[in-house]
Amino acid sequence: MNHNTQPKASHFINGAYVEDTSGTPIDVIYPATGEVIARIYAATPAVVDQALDAARTAQVEWAKMSGTERGRILRRAADLLRERNYDLSVLETLDTGKPLQETLVADATSGADALEYFGGLAGSLTGEHIQLGGGDFVYTIREPLGVCVGIGAWNYPTQIACWKGAPALACGNTMVFKPSETTPLCTLKVAEILHEAGLPAGVYNVVQGMGEVGASLVTDPRVAKVSLTGSVLTGKKVYAAAAAQMKHVTMELGGKSPLIIFDDADLEDAVGGAILGNFYSTGQVCSNGTRVFVQKGIKTAFLKRLKERVEAAIIGDPMDKAVNFGPMVSAAQLAITLGYINKGVEEGATLVTGGAQLDRDGFYIQPTVFADVSDDMSIAIEEIFGPVMSVLEFEDEAEVIRRANATEYGLAGGVFTSDLTRGHRVIAALEAGSCYINTYNLAPVEAPFGGVKMSGVGRENSKQAVEHYSQMKSVYVAMGPVDAPF
Ligand code: NDP
Repeated sequence: MNHNTQPKASHFINGAYVEDTSGTPIDVIYPATGEVIARIYAATPAVVDQALDAARTAQVEWAKMSGTERGRILRRAADLLRERNYDLSVLETLDTGKPLQETLVADATSGADALEYFGGLAGSLTGEHIQLGGGDFVYTIREPLGVCVGIGAWNYPTQIACWKGAPALACGNTMVFKPSETTPLCTLKVAEILHEAGLPAGVYNVVQGMGEVGASLVTDPRVAKVSLTGSVLTGKKVYAAAAAQMKHVTMELGGKSPLIIFDDADLEDAVGGAILGNFYSTGQVCSNGTRVFVQKGIKTAFLKRLKERVEAAIIGDPMDKAVNFGPMVSAAQLAITLGYINKGVEEGATLVTGGAQLDRDGFYIQPTVFADVSDDMSIAIEEIFGPVMSVLEFEDEAEVIRRANATEYGLAGGVFTSDLTRGHRVIAALEAGSCYINTYNLAPVEAPFGGVKMSGVGRENSKQAVEHYSQMKSVYVAMGPVDAPF
């Protein structure tokens, strides 16, 4: 390993790297080889305290700056992220194992989009004037919430750090971010770049650690809002802890999303959509369409073409730009995925392709497709968070809508059809937050992103995110005498 991956220190607080080796050591492992590439230390209570104090102190001055000034810093950080895209992409690959082919176009670039978008929006965030009778009026002031906590999953560390940080900072909040312990490196770079772009010390802080560090942040009275990207199980705990102090929350949680392919769909596009919706990032994407409902008439052709294209995946060293399918993030996630593959076979699904771990170092597994999956099988019900696609057959529209919605989740959903009205009709009937017609899994910053049902609350990205990082103060102004009853 030639890369220098050891960060200057574990945490980034008040504009500087901070180390405290008395915290629990965490080895950072490169998923492609299993090698330890860095060692960091979980935040001790003293480090958490330092970060929250820094964020609270900095928030007062940060909120006093004009939106245009705040936005300028965020946009400068976006430029720096883009200038350093190659190095940041290599780091993202080292952190997550995702192929460089992906990270070059999907991670620092997506983070930069968020910083640019919310940086651009910051100067135009306003309240409103509401005229009342008798000359009285109300005006509203859009205020920041205060100190926000961001807690990230391991699949998109740079993106998640920016998707949460950019709207929070644009609205005048400060942030303490805790990345997943599995992928702790990228977020530190985001913090460093934000400060290089002119961010005042204390506005964006990073502390490392496992779940208990996240939990200590969520329960701290200095914190006004928590935004979590993670599993439903963690989401329930964090939401409950936040509720005890009536904190604001955004919950971006898991899914088991339906991707519905009608007989009249373009076959190549439908197969392409199913590949994008199941195997990008080695299947470790929350919005994946892992229940692929295929109408009876197209099923044989779909499975034949899908198998051909999936078997053409180039699996290998993620630093090789020709490789388009890398390892899973960790040995643990690989074991979970292999467990589900075994269950799929045991419960009677047909293994179309894949199914095996690769005989090499690192956490490699083949992209896997099951057919003849029924709604009651574990692989059709539970989120696997690995490269396992379940193909389920259906006959008509009403049936597939009913089956697609028969899940506790509601993050995403998609439909492939050449019938314009059916496309819109089916999407309107889906219980899901982020939907697609004739494509899958695109998440531009301009579009709201988030789930319904157990997949979460709130939305990231778009103007919607502003509503989740600010609150309105309303001010009634009387223009005449006070009319009191006595
Ligand atoms: P986890 O829920 O295990 O962890 C998410 C984060 O929460 C981690 O940083 C974790 O720390 C932390 N955490 C764990 N317990 C607590 C707690 N009690 N209080 C506060 N923080 C806590 O998810 P994964 O990291 O395994 O990520 C995979 C999951 O994320 C999948 O379910 C996936 O669907 C979902 N996800 C959702 C997305 C969305 O936008 N909707 C996007 C990407 C992923 P640590 O792990 O370091 O211990």
